Amino acid sequence: MIEFKNVYKKYENNNNTAINDLNLQIKDGDFFVLVGPSGSGKTTTLKMINRLIKQTSGEITIDGKNIDDFNLQEMRLQMGYVLQNIALFPNMTIEDNITIQPESLKWSKEKRHQVAWDLLEKVGLDPDKYAKRLPNELSGGEQQRVGIVRALASNPKIVLMDEPFSALDPISRNQLQELVLKLHAEMNMTFVFVTHDMNEAVRLGNTIAIMRLGHLEQIGTRDEIVHNPKNNF
Ligand code: ADP
Ligand code: ADP
Repeated sequence: MIEFKNVYKKYENNNNTAINDLNLQIKDGDFFVLVGPSGSGKTTTLKMINRLIKQTSGEITIDGKNIDDFNLQEMRLQMGYVLQNIALFPNMTIEDNITIQPESLKWSKEKRHQVAWDLLEKVGLDPDKYAKRLPNELSGGEQQRVGIVRALASNPKIVLMDEPFSALDPISRNQLQELVLKLHAEMNMTFVFVTHDMNEAVRLGNTIAIMRLGHLEQIGTRDEIVHNPKNNF
C-alpha cells in the first residue's frame, strides 16, 4: 500500500502550496485514478511517489516504510512511469527502446528479445512487424503502446501514468483505455493514473480521487463517485 499522511508541498520558487494536507491510501493491485482540473496537484502527487519531487512536510510510505528509506534505484525499478509525450529514442529500434532501462540492460540478449516480443504481443503490436522499426515509423497511438511496454518491461509492482492518452485522437484513446484495463486485469500491478478527464477517470478507475487545490475533494469507488448526485452523471 502507498500512503500519504498529512503531505504538503510548497514550491519555493513561487511560494505556491501545490499540495495542501493530502491524505490518501492506494491499495495493492488497485487501479487508482487521480482526477481534477489543471493545477490541482495531480502531477505533483504522482511525482512524489517516485521521488522526482520531495514533499515539504508529511510522510509518504510504501508498505509501511518511509519512501526516503528505500534505495532510490531499487525503488524506481519497482515503478514504471508513462508520460503524455513518451520520448522514444529516435535512432533506436522499438525492441531496443523497450529494453534500454538499467535493469533490462543486465539481461542476456535472449531474455531482452523474449521480454520485448512477449510485451509487444500483449499490447497488440505484432513483434515480427514492429520490433525492428524506428519510432517515427509508428503512429502516435502505437508509440504510446511502446511507452507502456517500456514501463512494464522490468515487471514493476507499481505503474504511474500521467495523462498518457491526452495527446491522442479519440479512437486511439479509446483503444488505449481498453488496453490498460486489459493489462491491469492480467498483470498483478498497482496502477496510479492521472487525468483531467472525468469520463476517463470513471471508465478506468476502481478507486477515484478527485483533487482540487492540492487536496482531496472526494474519494471513493467508481460506484460511489458515479452515484454521488454532486457529480452530475
Ligand atoms: P499540465 O499539468 O496541464 O500538463 P503542467 O504540469 O506543465 O501542465 O503545468 C501545470 C501548471 O503548473 C501550470 O499552471 C504551469 O504554469 C505550472 N508550472 C509548471 N511548471 C512550473 C514551474 N517550473 N514554475 C512555475 N509554475 C509551473
Ligand atoms: P496538475 O497535475 O493537477 O495540473 P500540478 O501538480 O502540475 O497540477 O501543479 C499543482 C500546482 O503546483 C499548480 O499551481 C502549479 O502551478 C504548481 N507547480 C507545478 N509545478 C511547479 C514547479 N515546478 N514550480 C512551481 N510551481 C509548480
